[in-house]
Amino acid sequence: MANRDSIHRFLFENFPVRGEIVHLDATWQAVLERFDYPPHIRTVLGELMAATALLASTLKFSGMLTVQLQGKGPLHLLVVQCSNRMALRGLARWNGDVPVGTLSAMTGDGRLAITVESPEEGHRYQGIVPLEGETIADCLQNYFRDSVQLPTRLWTATGAQGASGMLLQRLPQQPGQSNVESDDWNRVQILADTITADELQNLADEVILRRLFNEDDIRLFESAPVSFRCGCSRERVERMLRGLGREEVESILEDEGKVEVRCEFCNKAEDFDRVDAIQLFEGEGPPPPAGKLH
Ligand SMILES: [Zn+2]
Repeated sequence: MANRDSIHRFLFENFPVRGEIVHLDATWQAVLERFDYPPHIRTVLGELMAATALLASTLKFSGMLTVQLQGKGPLHLLVVQCSNRMALRGLARWNGDVPVGTLSAMTGDGRLAITVESPEEGHRYQGIVPLEGETIADCLQNYFRDSVQLPTRLWTATGAQGASGMLLQRLPQQPGQSNVESDDWNRVQILADTITADELQNLADEVILRRLFNEDDIRLFESAPVSFRCGCSRERVERMLRGLGREEVESILEDEGKVEVRCEFCNKAEDFDRVDAIQLFEGEGPPPPAGKLH
């Protein structure tokens, strides 16, 4: 099947519910190419990537959305970032054998932190909810319930080829719309619950909507592209090494012969040899005296 890296917004015409459908194909493959994840970890990471793209599409921001799950269990970290241009990256970290089971069995107790940074506007927002639920969708739904106070449902599916997701969100009532919104909201959720993982991943969005909501008037907007992009760069690594300090960098050079910094998201390595290190700290005065005691 062709790569469909896109997010597609839709609206119910007669009551205030909106939706989004996302497909990550090449985006998801780009994550898998860089790290070898066990299948069950791959599944939750794919779900989190789809869910993060859906969450980003419901927010207004001009920077970076970061969704981070931190647990006390073997799967202790999942991070996905999505820019306002829908460029995504993600990673998972675990120790030892991660049991195959529900999300809570894998991650243990923990928290879900959602951070939105809009550096140009100087805004930073963070919402934290306990890590509760069987799936990534449950966790995010808890976040919407507790922090956003807009009833929201999510469905996700991850396979070898791609990660897909669908979101429905009940919006505040608009003038002129029916006031049986609560009934409609319940009805569209029941209909949406009938979608299978296979349908969500493989059917065209128009077909999904027609199958699920064939009695409703739906406005489907133009889809927007989604992509993989890692924002790492040599300049950023240089800034980080300067922050670490000359002494520390010298000491790594002494031990290792070079300083290698590997990006956790895209696995790209930046190497710094002795000459690079000298250039890094140029203009900072003489190096520390040799033989200094630590
Ligand atoms: Zn990177």
